[in-house]
Amino acid sequence: MKVRVLGAGVAGLVAATELARHGADVELVDRAPALGVEACAWCAGGMLAPWCEGESAEAFVVENGQKALAWWREHSSSFVQNGTLVLASRRDQGELTRFARMSENHEPCEASALVGLEPDLGERFERALFFAGEAHVDPRLALQHLADALVAEGASLRFGEAMTPQEAEKNVDLVIDCRGFAARDQVSGLRGVRGEMMIVRCPGFALARSVRLLHPRWPLYVVPRADHVFMLGATMIESEHHGPVTLRSAGELIEAAQALHPAFNEAEILELRADVRPAFADNLPRVERRGKTISINGLYRHGFLLSPWCADEAVRLAGLSPQAFGAPAGELVA
Ligand SMILES: Cc1cc2nc3c(=O)[nH]c(=O)nc-3n(C[C@H](O)[C@H](O)[C@H](O)COP(=O)(O)OP(=O)(O)OC[C@H]3O[C@@H](n4cnc5c(N)ncnc54)[C@H](O)[C@@H]3O)c2cc1C
Repeated sequence: MKVRVLGAGVAGLVAATELARHGADVELVDRAPALGVEACAWCAGGMLAPWCEGESAEAFVVENGQKALAWWREHSSSFVQNGTLVLASRRDQGELTRFARMSENHEPCEASALVGLEPDLGERFERALFFAGEAHVDPRLALQHLADALVAEGASLRFGEAMTPQEAEKNVDLVIDCRGFAARDQVSGLRGVRGEMMIVRCPGFALARSVRLLHPRWPLYVVPRADHVFMLGATMIESEHHGPVTLRSAGELIEAAQALHPAFNEAEILELRADVRPAFADNLPRVERRGKTISINGLYRHGFLLSPWCADEAVRLAGLSPQAFGAPAGELVA
């Protein structure tokens, strides 16, 4: 089966990997000049946090997101499974209690245990929730790794070429449309949720795992990368505006990071970036087949968490061999 995948974001690369694994002859086409230049996935924290997400997401996300842990362990050398810590200042303990009530698979963590897990946080926080099973990847390394592996296995990757699904259907058996928010005009009900992030280097400060700081106005997460580099994220704004990060949002991220630890006062800002998350009204993804085109979209804030599930659905809708994940049947899923 000859398959053309439109879009080398996280949905496209994961789908291409799974289709190739099931024997398809895969060609991946992206309109950007190089990997990540226009992909929302390049902005992501790379958190694989299905149980934390349960605080605000449907049970579907918690359940199917768990399957991403095994998938990324197998497919990314930057996979780290050290869990997630959820913290709140003394003033915001009510937020921690609420978070605990709304989520599963966590254990309480008192100050002494917290120091053991993250020595650099010291005794700044009295209580935390520890989600031991969660993980993260470095999204840029993870996407590059998938792209390299696809090429190594004989798939073709072409950049700088924009196509509509109709154009893409020529000379192939199947098209997988993974254009993210750029598909908005053809995918009804798709909306944008703007997210802004910052990458900083903070010498002398280390974290072994993703940390979420609960705050009634400015919730923050910090995802560690190599060499004392951290991704600070992320705003969630009901807007389709692609413009640069605003001063207000940068200020909020900085204030929240300072509240996590004063070491961030000395951090160097390496990058500020904004993008638009593709989302449907229910914030759940859809994998849908119409004729020769399967569309994967609406990954919202769960691109890394749910793309393995979406890819598996695409394999099923393509009529390739049975999937491993046991997703529910149906043309329109989730
Ligand atoms: C700040 C921020 C933090 C996030 N953190 C996380 C996180 O920690 N964990 C998580 O799971 N998710 C996270 N997300 C969400 C995640 O990034 C998105 O869900 C995901 O990127 C959507 O993936 P996608 O492949 O559908 O779209 P994209 O990543 O946007 O990829 C779409 C690709 O399609 C290409 N394209 C567009 N039009 C065409 C065309 N006509 N022809 C060919 N190619 C085309 C684009 O160039 C692009 O490369 C975060 C998002 C943001 C903004």
